[in-house]
Amino acid sequence: MMGMDLIFGPSVERGPRDNRIYLTFDDGPNKRATPAILETLAGSRVPAAFFMVGDHVRRFPTLARRVAGEGHLVGNHTYNHVKLHFAGPERIRIQLKKTHETIESITGVTPRSFRAPHGYRSPFLISRILEMRYTVFGWTFGVFDTAKPGVEEIRRRVRKRLRPGAIVLLHDGDGYDPEGDRMQTADALPGIIEDARSAGYEFAPLSELLRNRS
Ligand SMILES: [Zn+2]
Repeated sequence: MMGMDLIFGPSVERGPRDNRIYLTFDDGPNKRATPAILETLAGSRVPAAFFMVGDHVRRFPTLARRVAGEGHLVGNHTYNHVKLHFAGPERIRIQLKKTHETIESITGVTPRSFRAPHGYRSPFLISRILEMRYTVFGWTFGVFDTAKPGVEEIRRRVRKRLRPGAIVLLHDGDGYDPEGDRMQTADALPGIIEDARSAGYEFAPLSELLRNRS
């Protein structure tokens, strides 16, 4: 469940190997896709995690607040979707702190988790993460939904790759473009939920995998 890496620090990439699976959405909030995804999640009573870009939270505060208000986990995904392997310690510190404070002041929720843009991590990250008492999340699989392969194709890829304890990576936003189009992902979600449930999976909140739940 935990990939232990002495240089880059531990990250959670999968849950317990039972029928639980975890939905995660990166790079939002996004004006069109996020509300559509929230509607589907609420209608199906499915919890999810949203790893938000700080600058998008600043642009779309009402949406960020709504995600948190509907009980979903809100995580830190840097302020400007920075590729951490190019960033020095000071840049990382500012990116994490600014996002933490933005999410906290806008949603009223204190973030407890982080996911690195593109999955890259940095040796400088671990000390910041420990200091902030964050859990770092990776993912079990993604489906390249950002390439917009089509609604049915996104659904099919998730169905094919689902396995016990999977943390599924999807996108409700574009890390660089606040107006980016993620409606294919939003439109694929009802089918994804239907497929997973008929295969016997149950959607669980990612918060149960937090390493520091106090
Ligand atoms: Zn991202």
